[in-house]
Amino acid sequence: MRTSTAFGLTLLFVLSAILLIFPIQANANTSNTGQTTANLNIRAIPSTDASIIGKFPKGTQFRYIDRNDGWGQITIQGQTGYVSLDYVTPIQHTEAAAATEPASNEHVQRIVIDPGHGGKDPGAVGNDTMEKLVALTISEKLQNRLQANGYEVKMTRSDDIFIPLAERAALSNDWRADLFVSVHANSASTAAANGLESYYYGSSSSGKQLASSIQTAMVSNTKRENRGTHSGDFYVLRHTSMPAVLIETGFISNPADALLLNDSDYQNKVADSIAQGIEAYTS
Ligand SMILES: [Zn+2]
Repeated sequence: MRTSTAFGLTLLFVLSAILLIFPIQANANTSNTGQTTANLNIRAIPSTDASIIGKFPKGTQFRYIDRNDGWGQITIQGQTGYVSLDYVTPIQHTEAAAATEPASNEHVQRIVIDPGHGGKDPGAVGNDTMEKLVALTISEKLQNRLQANGYEVKMTRSDDIFIPLAERAALSNDWRADLFVSVHANSASTAAANGLESYYYGSSSSGKQLASSIQTAMVSNTKRENRGTHSGDFYVLRHTSMPAVLIETGFISNPADALLLNDSDYQNKVADSIAQGIEAYTS
């Protein structure tokens, strides 16, 4: 009787100690959201030799704690498991993780996407390509990605219709958007001009930071000519009151760029890059 009471008290003590220790450890680590890039084994301990206790199919989104040793710790049906982070793309920091990071742009929630031109205004035309259509297609792809990343998104247009520039800026200001992203394609008098460039307004340092972040991702993902990041006096940049960028996704007037602008793989890469650039800016 006495022995079993002593055992019971010891067990209670051990359980309390575990309950005390675990929340502290959980808070001290960085909690992330990721997506698997392949079918992924869940291991009992963080080693490729460990027994497999489950699997995540390719494309699964899940929360994990980054152990900073290449392994993520997960909890699945109350059980702790480990996955190799070689096959995981981080999606978005959780609030808990963001709170431990230095002050940055993590407050960004609302993003306006502005597909250039539309309706009676085709934008640049050439090589069987119209800027207004390319801009809308890339913008819709970007909208899907940003919504999947947890942002609230408004489009200045979702159809081939004419919207005055003043309305585009007003929509963004009235909604109190955190970011404004205008999507365009370029044109030049010489067919040779090609590649990617990004604009921000005036001397806005946040606009510049966002534009460079997007430009870097686009150039790295598409391997197209880097024409750089510039300050530009565009109406929608001048009249919006949040960090705003205008992205030139290629030259309609260049035959090779025009082919790419009509290619869904390229459109996907550009949309991915803009989303990546925004993630980098906000983390
Ligand atoms: Zn344009």
